Amino acid sequence: MRVLITGITGMAGSHLAEYLLGQGYQVFGTYRWRSRMDNLSDLTSSGRVNLIGDSSPIANVAHLSEMVDERQRPEAANLIESDLTDAVSIRRVVGAIRPERIFHLAAQSFVPTSWNAPADTLETNIIGELKLLEAVREAGINPLIHIAGSSEEYGLVYPNEVPIKETNPLRPLSPYAVSKVAQEILAIQYHHSYGLRCVVTRAFNHEGPRRGHVFVTSSIARQIAEIEKGLAPPIIRVGDTTIERDWTDVRDVVRAYHLALEKGKPGEVYNIGRGESMTVRAMLDMLLSLTKVPITVEQDPSRFRPSDVRLLCCDCTKFKRETGWEPEIPFSKTLQDLLDYWRKRV
Ligand code: NDP
Repeated sequence: MRVLITGITGMAGSHLAEYLLGQGYQVFGTYRWRSRMDNLSDLTSSGRVNLIGDSSPIANVAHLSEMVDERQRPEAANLIESDLTDAVSIRRVVGAIRPERIFHLAAQSFVPTSWNAPADTLETNIIGELKLLEAVREAGINPLIHIAGSSEEYGLVYPNEVPIKETNPLRPLSPYAVSKVAQEILAIQYHHSYGLRCVVTRAFNHEGPRRGHVFVTSSIARQIAEIEKGLAPPIIRVGDTTIERDWTDVRDVVRAYHLALEKGKPGEVYNIGRGESMTVRAMLDMLLSLTKVPITVEQDPSRFRPSDVRLLCCDCTKFKRETGWEPEIPFSKTLQDLLDYWRKRV
């Protein structure tokens, strides 16, 4: 079965590719010419990344389709260049691969960047998804489509509203969160209007090896690894450490994404998360307990956001009931693996 992962070069996309290859799927993914391929290095080192039509001019869907048939390798992640903001390239990829499953992960995924580049965030995330859904319609296929929504959609959550159910009000607090609300509403509209089989997840924060260094867990882990190697003074600078997040391992989350399409219902929305919240400070202390080097923590006001989501704790009952999913990886292991990831890289 052919699956297409948009955003395969990202943290979740790369883990999902490995998971799906292990399940015997034929994996295709989109990359951009400037994509960092680091996240696929485990697959690359075992010869399991295959660039189809790398830099060759592609005439049309039929031409790309021939290339895909001739050059694809079933044991590899087959990559095709495509940018979500370009309807032509998305149409070609979808038309040539004709996937039976689409995991739509590509996005401008960093909340702080959405304050600085709100229009780009909305364009990439909302209009990019529109182009993908239209490409599916135009190809005349009806794959199961996973849309990666986010717990950020809940935004302002009052203490009496946790754990957060799918029925909680959505009060987004950043342009990123607005883009994710719109992505989900668009997908459900396409389900009702055109019968597209979209399943939406609202995943709570997930972490692990390959997490971008701008995200708080990864930023702290990287700083610790740099301090251990004497590359930085023994001080960690943090933003607001009182906010609470519900963290799950990315490897558990990509398993959930797979189950969302296999067992979830099109047109439905599912929370995915561990169901335990923890302050950023507690997460920081867990990371600090994994190093022997003494480190001082300092608050850095420049890291505070215009409005921050203060409390996220997931009620995952609906998803667990319908799919049987359970998180398996303890958060302590996630943080250990993340720190070890940075120890190998700094
Ligand atoms: P990453 O930032 O690691 O990956 C984002 C991916 O999107 C990259 O492959 C990136 O490609 C690609 N991308 C960005 N812009 C475009 C574009 N214009 N055209 C094509 N591809 C593009 O994110 P994650 O893996 O962490 O997240 C995956 C999805 O899950 C995202 O939609 C995110 O919003 C969502 N999500 C993530 C959560 C988390 O805690 N990680 C929580 C909830 C939802 P490139 O390599 O070229 O930059």
